[in-house]
Amino acid sequence: MRLESLFYLVFAVFVITLGTWAVSIHAAGEEKEPGKGQVRALMYHHFGMEDRYPSTSVSMEQFENHLAYLDENDFTVLTLGEALDWVDSGKAEGENIAVITIDDGYRSVWDNALPLLEEYGYKATVFIATEPVGGSGYMDWEQIRALQDKGFEIGGHSHTHGYFLNRPQGEVADVFEADLKKLHETFEAHLGEVPTLYAYPFGEFEPAMKAVLKDHGYEASAAQKSGVIYEGTDRFAMPRFPMNLRFGDLDGFAEKLAMNAMRVVEAAPEKPVVGEENPPILQLRIDNKEINTGGIQCFVAGLPECGIDTSREDGILTLRVRAENELTARRTLYTITAPSIDGSRWFWYSYSWVIPEIEE
Ligand SMILES: [Zn+2]
Repeated sequence: MRLESLFYLVFAVFVITLGTWAVSIHAAGEEKEPGKGQVRALMYHHFGMEDRYPSTSVSMEQFENHLAYLDENDFTVLTLGEALDWVDSGKAEGENIAVITIDDGYRSVWDNALPLLEEYGYKATVFIATEPVGGSGYMDWEQIRALQDKGFEIGGHSHTHGYFLNRPQGEVADVFEADLKKLHETFEAHLGEVPTLYAYPFGEFEPAMKAVLKDHGYEASAAQKSGVIYEGTDRFAMPRFPMNLRFGDLDGFAEKLAMNAMRVVEAAPEKPVVGEENPPILQLRIDNKEINTGGIQCFVAGLPECGIDTSREDGILTLRVRAENELTARRTLYTITAPSIDGSRWFWYSYSWVIPEIEE
């Protein structure tokens, strides 16, 4: 070896060593805190079926735009289980994480969504109601197994897709648990395992149902209310932004993916069922360090027809939110938004009321 080559070799080793040292210093400086980070979960049902199901289908053009947006804006697209693990481990901090969830297991997932998802290399979490599997308009077990083999996550969405809150209060837990056992038998028979994630049918739940899922070893369950998941989110009432023909346009999609979690530390009532008092009062306790409390707004089913009372104590803001008019739909969303103090970001929270006496 010539002296000159030796010099270069020694120099190269020196540079590599220095580089490794610099990288480790850099990594140490950026150490992420466990339980940090936000997850924007999206909720889909049908794909390219908007002529028949405008309120639960996105058009294929919209869906393709969504995937292209996630790709172009450097989102990390994870399954829901992976995303929660990232939040717990701290890997999520500073990342743009999106989760694609799909409820019910319709045939258009296989026919229309899957080819596009595969093109982008994205996986989704699919919540399956087991009784309708293989029926007209639904995927069959072979297709669901194929999704699982491709790395998709399969969650539970009940056996019968029933209205559990229609049962008398004392029966809800038993009826829900019996349905869950059917779901588990069917999952065992066709997938050889039971799920650890759940999505409530119609997004309707109450504390007794949460307790049953916890008893059966579930890790988390998803509701149908818009919002952003963060480390403090109730894991058994996780928010998702619904996507359909109306909300699926790119402007709305991009706006949702830029939203931040409002840090609601307590929401009352715990049971989101409207009782004697209608319109009902929602009381929220919010860790408001980052939000401009003067800019808080509320919406009822998307309309600014509500009032807010505000009080403050020890850095916690208490809001009492109430619709101006009696709620008349089976499910009504109260949504609260607020800008950040510096005006650069928005925070979002929503709560879904149910009136079981009203039929859809
Ligand atoms: Zn459903």
